[in-house]
Amino acid sequence: ALAVRLDKFLSHMGYGTRNEVKNIIKNGWVTIEGKTIKKADFQVKEDQTVYVDDVPVSYVRYEYYILNKPAGYVSATEDTLHPTVMELIPSIRNDLYPVGRLDLDTEGLLLVCNDGQLTHELLSPKKHVLKKYYAEFEGTLPENAVEIFAQPMDLDDFITKPAKLEVLDQDKAYLTISEGKFHQVKRMFLKVGCEVTYLQRVCFGPLELKDLEIGQARALTPEEIELLK
Ligand code: URA
Repeated sequence: ALAVRLDKFLSHMGYGTRNEVKNIIKNGWVTIEGKTIKKADFQVKEDQTVYVDDVPVSYVRYEYYILNKPAGYVSATEDTLHPTVMELIPSIRNDLYPVGRLDLDTEGLLLVCNDGQLTHELLSPKKHVLKKYYAEFEGTLPENAVEIFAQPMDLDDFITKPAKLEVLDQDKAYLTISEGKFHQVKRMFLKVGCEVTYLQRVCFGPLELKDLEIGQARALTPEEIELLK
């Protein structure tokens, strides 16, 4: 059976940092099967219920959230300079992280979860998960921009896979890419002489932002989780 260290378990479930949780354990507040457990490295098995102060710690293995990331938030779990996207996730647990990254000034759809296997698959270059971006830009797109974006584009450190450009206006477009290299969308526009002034991710694989407001997050529905797998 699967087992996890008691201090790690409680920390992940939101009971504090590893050190705070170690104190909770040392103070004798934790019981399992009626016995007080004072060892932080106690191995909790899958079928055991942990009680803190006689309250059962409800255990959910995986959690998945969709966030409409605002500009100014870092796609990371910790940062010294800026607030992180984790501040916007309505969960106290401590083992969640963003799946991939959006630039500091990029807004839009970010998946946050603690499912390592799914994360690996979604970020694997072999999976070609489509990401659709809404971009506003300065400069004039060449007349054959759609064809240019659909061809491999040499960005010096890598060559892009075909991307789909949908022009909405002289300074607005959707761009769908199957990769996610550093600053990829901005660099692709720069390559055709345009500077992105606003960027928002509207789709990530089967997930869509829809009417999720900027700065808001919600748990994925079971249907959405199924679609991702
Ligand atoms: N491409 C970019 O240039 N920035 C992002 O945040 C995402 C894709």
